[in-house]
Amino acid sequence: MSKRDFYEVLGVAKGADDAALKSAYRKLAMQHHPDRNPGNAESESKFKEINEAYDTLKDGQKRAAYDRFGHAAFENGGRGAAGGGFGNDFNSSMSDIFEDIFGDFMGGGQGRRGGGGAAKLRGADLRYNLEISLEESFEGRTVEIDVPTLVGCDTCDGSGAKPGTGTHTCRQCNGHGKVRAAQGFFTIERTCPVCQGRGQMMDAPCEDCSGQGRRQENRKLSVDIPKGIEDGTRIRLANEGEAGLRGGPPGDLYIFISIRPHDLFQRDGADLYARVPIAMTTAALGGEFEVPTLDAARAKVKVAAGTQPGQRVRLKGKGMPVLRSKDVGDLYVQLDIETPQALSRRQRELLEEFAKLETEENSPTSGGFFSKLKKMFEA
Ligand SMILES: [Zn+2]
Ligand SMILES: [Zn+2]
Repeated sequence: MSKRDFYEVLGVAKGADDAALKSAYRKLAMQHHPDRNPGNAESESKFKEINEAYDTLKDGQKRAAYDRFGHAAFENGGRGAAGGGFGNDFNSSMSDIFEDIFGDFMGGGQGRRGGGGAAKLRGADLRYNLEISLEESFEGRTVEIDVPTLVGCDTCDGSGAKPGTGTHTCRQCNGHGKVRAAQGFFTIERTCPVCQGRGQMMDAPCEDCSGQGRRQENRKLSVDIPKGIEDGTRIRLANEGEAGLRGGPPGDLYIFISIRPHDLFQRDGADLYARVPIAMTTAALGGEFEVPTLDAARAKVKVAAGTQPGQRVRLKGKGMPVLRSKDVGDLYVQLDIETPQALSRRQRELLEEFAKLETEENSPTSGGFFSKLKKMFEA
């Protein structure tokens, strides 16, 4: 049978405070107390359930473990972890969880943790989302960014130890870096959780960084955006991520580039596409117009007489630069033809006159189509 959620059992929200927990527990416990329900098996099991839930949630450490791992925190003999004791009956898959929780509460916060001679850890990789314009991708440029990150502490040079202080042997493991626990016939040896295997502890943590060897800072960085960079490109700046813990190596910084949609141009690789509406008369008679280009210039677009809707004009070399290459894409201008509306009387007369003179050659496609339809109706 699967176990019910402890919060559900007590009928409280996940963030409920101690007072809310207590009052919910009291109410339910009174209701289901065996003295009040003699011989009622259901009430008895409910009462047990309520007590188990409350026992867990009223205890800050157990609750933290439960919030993190659910019932799994207390399964597989994980009671040691939840109880805060140094359990000797956990299995190996439990030990990761255990160490995690252990670190959190045994350390009693950063100070104590930092005071331990804990191992160096590589700093985390950071992700920075940078949105640029299509123009910026076209030109390539250097962008200044502000990255909230952890940097090495100057006071202790990243070591986490108070300058001028030394180290002492870890009392938990006597400097071995490992501790043993007996379990039946077996003895389990594991990394010392106090010094995390180093065998040594700092005498005093650096006061400026609480022994972490790093501190929070907004770092200003300039990022070179190469010409032709595409949407979704990831730029890796090696060693620009978070500083390592207690002098560990730094992580990397990844800049994720996204390109803002452009008002006129759509991009497909190095080619650009633009849709431009033109008047029916321009399409029929031919003409030319100008479009702005990304290099802040203008390009002439020639419209051939008899241009059809959706027809494209290719402007060679007016597209995007190709990343790390001298190649440049093309710009395709798609012509959308607008049928005239709100005709004046005179315009209407002229179009009606034109219609009378129209031959099948003027509109070969529609002419052919309608004669084909005609044949179908006659058949
Ligand atoms: Zn420091
Ligand atoms: Zn130790």
